[in-house]
Amino acid sequence: MRFEIITIFPTFFTGIFENGVVRRALAEGLVEVGIHDLRAFTHDRHRTVDDRPFGGGEGMVLKPEPLAAALESLGIAVKNSEFTAGAKAPIVQAGVDVRAEARTLQVKPTDDGGEASIRNPHTQVILLSAQGRPFTQAMARELATLDRVVLICGRYEGVDERINNLYCDLELSIGDYVLSGGELAAAVVVDAAMRLIPGVLGNEASSEFESFGVADAEIDTDIEGVPRSQHGAGGLLDYPHFTRPAEFGGLSAPAVLLNGDHQQIRRWRREQQLRKTLANRPDLLEHAALSKEDRKLLDALQREEQ
Ligand code: SAM
Repeated sequence: MRFEIITIFPTFFTGIFENGVVRRALAEGLVEVGIHDLRAFTHDRHRTVDDRPFGGGEGMVLKPEPLAAALESLGIAVKNSEFTAGAKAPIVQAGVDVRAEARTLQVKPTDDGGEASIRNPHTQVILLSAQGRPFTQAMARELATLDRVVLICGRYEGVDERINNLYCDLELSIGDYVLSGGELAAAVVVDAAMRLIPGVLGNEASSEFESFGVADAEIDTDIEGVPRSQHGAGGLLDYPHFTRPAEFGGLSAPAVLLNGDHQQIRRWRREQQLRKTLANRPDLLEHAALSKEDRKLLDALQREEQ
């Protein structure tokens, strides 16, 4: 799998992917990351990437031409949509035959009967934006199944909306706050998706047992070395973790975790997951995969709260 990041600050990513599982995944060739300097796609002396907004107002906007050139250099054609009616999608760009990467997604002949813009369903072009759909673990799981993800980092007031209209499959926000640029958001998306690619985490199962993990029913129970005292998160938050020493700062690690009884440990952990989710993210309970046992526990916890 390959991530392509388009940015005006390529040095932002120096060192960011050089730690932990991400570094290992890159070193082992499980994942590739290409960083593309937007200024390399400008043609003026000042390498201008921004301009004043039409209609007035604060700040500057990333111009569409360098972004379009950067995308097309990666073999990304314009989408077919109402926005491209009448426009002809280039078929060969920068030596890359776009048809060879046929995207069956959004295939539709243009209104003038011209070539359809054909895009690869295994490539997604994402605009990072505070106005985007919220990024979730479920999305990270989907991205991890793709061949290529292109991430456009906005700056200033954002990106000329026609880039979104013409090229992007998805507008993505990493949270309800405004960052100064899309680079941190791109790093978040790469990190979250990359660790879900098979082979990146040492233990294939570990991501499924984490916060927002899938339900037990979806977990391959044949995975070796996973004691059943771990439990598919089923959309809940993770349970709290403890390690040596057993006593620290006047607090003991929960005795149940030291007794080796996996049934008891499983039940305790599940209760903790429910407790934490109820306290910190009650919204998740609506869609969580809850067993009868979970529901009973949850009822008891809710009564405790009243
Ligand atoms: N005017 C924009 C607004 O109010 O939504 C904010 C622009 S922000 C200062 C500059 C860039 O940072 C955006 O174009 C986007 O790429 C990135 N950005 C800011 N907040 C983000 C978020 N929550 N998630 C993803 N990207 C974000």
